[in-house]
Amino acid sequence: MYSEIVPFLEKNNTQLIAVSKTKPNEAIMAIYNQGQRAFGENRIQELVEKQEQLPKEIQWHFIGHLQTNKVKYVASFVHCIHSVDSLKLLQEINKQARKHHRTIQCLLQFKIAAEESKFGLDMESAKSLLTNEAFAQMDHITIAGVMGMATFTNSEVQVRNEFARLKSYFNQLQQTYFADSPAFKEISMGMSGDYQIAVEEGSTMVRIGSLIFGARN
Ligand SMILES: *Cc1c(COP(=O)(O)O)cnc(C)c1O
Repeated sequence: MYSEIVPFLEKNNTQLIAVSKTKPNEAIMAIYNQGQRAFGENRIQELVEKQEQLPKEIQWHFIGHLQTNKVKYVASFVHCIHSVDSLKLLQEINKQARKHHRTIQCLLQFKIAAEESKFGLDMESAKSLLTNEAFAQMDHITIAGVMGMATFTNSEVQVRNEFARLKSYFNQLQQTYFADSPAFKEISMGMSGDYQIAVEEGSTMVRIGSLIFGARN
């Protein structure tokens, strides 16, 4: 329930991204009217339609796997892309953001789960991205932090370890590459089933869908 989650997150200085994927505009407006402004979507087409139809005050977060050729559809309005997993994608985000004279916040998505299906960087590839000459030239993106999804499992120990690993990646990157960049501050981790563990492990942003909007079909 939205009204129960919010006080817990506020107490822990954690931002809520309300994940509205598959949910109709009326459901989004019900939460918007309770004060929520940050919403997350994982499909480009759906995000574009909702952005056109809903209040412009909404801050849209893209949390799904993003294909390079689709960046152009959201570059004029998307606030933060949580799923950056390649230099090529980052270059395209930078290029499209420049066209719109804006800066897009980006999070580096790390693969922390044991499951094969989850996308993301490892530390090696993140370092090679951040030390690439092309990265140094990008002036229309801000690397605002990291994102990760834990394994879908009942093992609290495993989930906790995976979140702790993401936090340690964040710390390493901050010390090595972002010591002078206060904008590098977000750790996007935690969903309906594991957000309390994520907050305990240092999450600054949780992405919660079904707990707020009900189960998806
Ligand atoms: C769907 C989704 C969520 C929210 O999942 P719930 O379990 O409904 O809270 C969070 N993060 C990502 C990347 C998602 O795709």
